[in-house]
Amino acid sequence: MSSGNTNETHDPKLRSWVDAANDGKSDFPLQNLPLGVFRRAGKSDDFRGGVAIGDQILDLAAAVRANIFSGDAAEAAAIASAPTLNELMGADPGLASSLRLALSRVLREGSAQEGRARACLVPMKDAEMGIPATIGDFTDFFSSVFHATNTGGMFRPDNPLLPNYKHVPIAYHGRASSIRVGTSTAPQAFPRPVGQTKPADAPGPLFGPSKRLDYELEVGLWIGRGNTLGSRIGIAEAESHVFGVNLLNDWSARDIQGWEYQPLGPFLAKNFATTISPWIVTLEALAPYRTAAFARPEGDPQPMAYLDSERNRAMGGLDLQLEVLLLTPKMRAAGAAPVRLSASNFKDSYWTIAQFVAHHTVGGCNLQAGDLLGSGTQSGPTRDQYGSMLELSWGGKNPIELPNGETRTFLEDGDTLILKGACEREGFVRIGFGDAAGTVLPALPI
Ligand code: MN
Repeated sequence: MSSGNTNETHDPKLRSWVDAANDGKSDFPLQNLPLGVFRRAGKSDDFRGGVAIGDQILDLAAAVRANIFSGDAAEAAAIASAPTLNELMGADPGLASSLRLALSRVLREGSAQEGRARACLVPMKDAEMGIPATIGDFTDFFSSVFHATNTGGMFRPDNPLLPNYKHVPIAYHGRASSIRVGTSTAPQAFPRPVGQTKPADAPGPLFGPSKRLDYELEVGLWIGRGNTLGSRIGIAEAESHVFGVNLLNDWSARDIQGWEYQPLGPFLAKNFATTISPWIVTLEALAPYRTAAFARPEGDPQPMAYLDSERNRAMGGLDLQLEVLLLTPKMRAAGAAPVRLSASNFKDSYWTIAQFVAHHTVGGCNLQAGDLLGSGTQSGPTRDQYGSMLELSWGGKNPIELPNGETRTFLEDGDTLILKGACEREGFVRIGFGDAAGTVLPALPI
């Protein structure tokens, strides 16, 4: 299904027989139907595919055994019952689309399948979420011109944006093995990274725990069908190779990054952990929220032909509201709720999803089903839209004041950082992404 096209599954009038899906607050109404992998918490069963609906998960393996689906939807549900979603991701997009339509019909009020499907539900509170795919490769882009300008300006006040930025989608090849799922109820806990740093006033490099540990508010794009090595995916086909979208925190040790990043880019500064949200919202579910690509200011270069199409200009953007929240140990002890640090929107990204895919493959690089592309930190133009602590505290110079009187320049041990996302549009039901959360543990002893 191509972007911008809505169908029966997006109908805002549809309600589910799962009550919690209809309360207007759930991230997972009937119009969303994101996919993930799960198992009963505390069990050592294999992970298996599931679909979020309200506060429940429809167990796809159980649904297959109960013969709830037929035709293409049954085939899709069977391959999505595996411990990872790679096979479904790599299949013809029509297969996942058939499953979405069947799920919408089975889970909606009045379905004749309600009784059998109800027996296949697992409460989210009883489930442990897994990494939704075997991630062969992880690439992280740098697609917010506001983030690029802010961070560049800290190092080069006279020349914040490098001359390539508006011509070429910049990225680095990241580390797939340290990507984990984390949520606010089960955050990814990881030790503060240790490494070499070189403070400006130190005569030489130091070794020790990072003192400038940061997060990055990002969107994750999951590759569906891949391409063979030596071929390319043109911009017109690019979105048909993207399975779906989730949230991604590219944890970054800024002091390690500052010393190591030249000339080959980030290495230990970003390879120790990456946290993702567990539910993948399909591109089909996101059709109502597609919007124009970011409007380039007068005087900016237009994208080269391989990165440009009329459709991309008109519909290449995604109106996805993003939010960052922080829970400190002191707030946790006081029973206080996490506080919002900032909020931004993926529609302000300088480069689009289709441009990421077209650029990544233009030289013949092969993408594979389950590969993950990070959008890069999504910052908007104003301070309340900055997607990292590096920007919010302006390189550590301006401490962030929290409502309980605490301050932060970077993350401290015990801090839990939560990313949220949601899409809203007049005439459609709001759909959410759940959350991605991680907690910083003390550094391992040296
Ligand atoms: Mn990043």
